[in-house]
Amino acid sequence: MLQWKIQSGINPIGGRTIDGKIVASEEGHKNASLTSSTNDSNSHSANPIDREKIASLPTSTNFPSSILIHNEKGKLLDGLLVSGFDEASCISRVQSRSFRKASPHKPSRYLISKLRDYEELHGKCGPNTRAYKKNIKDLQSKKITGAAMCKYIVWDPSNGLGNQMISIVSTFLYAILTERVLLVRFGRDLNGLFCEPFLNSTWELPKNTPFWNERRVETYQTMLKKDKANSISKEPLPSTLFLNLQHTLNDPEKFFHCDHNQDLLRNIPLLILQSDQYFVPSLFMNPSFNLEINKMFPEKDTIFHHLARYLFHPSNEAWGLISRFYRTYLAEADERIGLQIRVFSPNNTPEQAIMDLVLNCTISNNLLPELDTKNSVSYTQNKTLKAVLVASLYPEYGESLRAMYLNKPSVSGELIGVFQPSHEEKQKFHDNMHNMKAWTEIYLLSLSDVLVTTSLSTFGYVAQGLGGLKPWLLYKLISNDTHFPACERDFSFEPCNHIPPKHYCNGKTIKDYASSFPVLRGCIDYSIGVKLVTDSTT
Ligand code: GDP
Repeated sequence: MLQWKIQSGINPIGGRTIDGKIVASEEGHKNASLTSSTNDSNSHSANPIDREKIASLPTSTNFPSSILIHNEKGKLLDGLLVSGFDEASCISRVQSRSFRKASPHKPSRYLISKLRDYEELHGKCGPNTRAYKKNIKDLQSKKITGAAMCKYIVWDPSNGLGNQMISIVSTFLYAILTERVLLVRFGRDLNGLFCEPFLNSTWELPKNTPFWNERRVETYQTMLKKDKANSISKEPLPSTLFLNLQHTLNDPEKFFHCDHNQDLLRNIPLLILQSDQYFVPSLFMNPSFNLEINKMFPEKDTIFHHLARYLFHPSNEAWGLISRFYRTYLAEADERIGLQIRVFSPNNTPEQAIMDLVLNCTISNNLLPELDTKNSVSYTQNKTLKAVLVASLYPEYGESLRAMYLNKPSVSGELIGVFQPSHEEKQKFHDNMHNMKAWTEIYLLSLSDVLVTTSLSTFGYVAQGLGGLKPWLLYKLISNDTHFPACERDFSFEPCNHIPPKHYCNGKTIKDYASSFPVLRGCIDYSIGVKLVTDSTT
């Protein structure tokens, strides 16, 4: 096994470390912190893929839309997106395609038609429409007007940004499948991260809605109890139901994937859904949803990829951070490597153990070169520049890696630049700027050519899904330990559903998912979890 010893915080070539940030060194490397002010005039020529495109982009986010370059097909991601948006209000919609390679995965015509149908429904029933106002009034007075009424699903946040984004995508797919209007309850911490995804409308639940803080409504669990006691048919349908799909390992089965339970939910006008999971595989286990999902996504492992690229466009503020960082530190490189180091038990896992794991993974898989410890200069003609984007709550990992490659040449002669946008030290809740940084880093990771993430981290799942990247999954260390192999290549870029249903609808335990659902596979990073694959042979 490879072993490297790195002293953290020491920058041997004279660069200083102030307050955990990497600052300019004698070799002209720039401060790579999101909190620092980066200057567009410093941006370098771009990489071979997008050098020309990026060079032709305006540097300010406040430019007139008339000078934006148009290429309808590419701009609309092969029909995934609809035209007609005010481009200046969401620059990333236009510019982002210049920062990443075109996806080889095309949305199916059926998916495109379902998205257009959904947009029509949202336009008809969403906030600020006459129908919405009437429906909310009716819901308040518990007057249910039956089939003609628009139905809604309110997504309720829980857990970190990655968890939230994977559950929004799942809820959106559920909304499409059940013809409900998706509304998201964004608190202050999620304000201004994303552009509006639906044309001429908003997906945000208006703050003055009576359901903003609604917790006194009937719950799905109570409904299931009544159903078991056969008392459900004697009662009027609730107008609003709280659906808690937060899963813990020991929860009783929720049977959300079963037709009978979906029948119970079908006519309830307003569902408030809380989940931190990517529950798409459990929708796939429902026979009627399964047919639709199969038609919408002939490539099963592209569900998150398409829906996340459809929904999540960085706001102008987020895009300013992303695009400046990318152009200043990453665009010039021949190859970009995203390295997400999530430490789940920081008190029990020494920095050195994590660093050994990272280097074992990246060097033994030829993602990063070994150090030439015998020479102080490189005699090769290799001029390759690799940029490593480190995303971590802790500054030490970026600092150590950067110092290592500045201190000694690599055996291949490649130059390795290491850039870490932030180091928040801990996960913070209800903090808008903290989330803005997290979103910026998730997006920057998704722009990588090669991605290394930490097992079980939903932060990494969003990056891999957006970028269509099969990541190298670092083993999740929780002690002063070593693990071999240090990482394993994932077989797909779909997120893992950590806690899938454990029972068939008849109550029998599911022993082997693949035998009943051939496109479900156990996750590499969490064997209890499942994810979708395109076919059982891949
Ligand atoms: P998970 O816990 O790894 O599954 O990911 P989540 O995104 O759900 O929750 C972790 C949260 O911690 C993130 O949303 C951020 O708020 C914070 N966080 C964790 N790692 C990073 C990181 O590398 N960079 C930044 N900026 N924040 C992070």
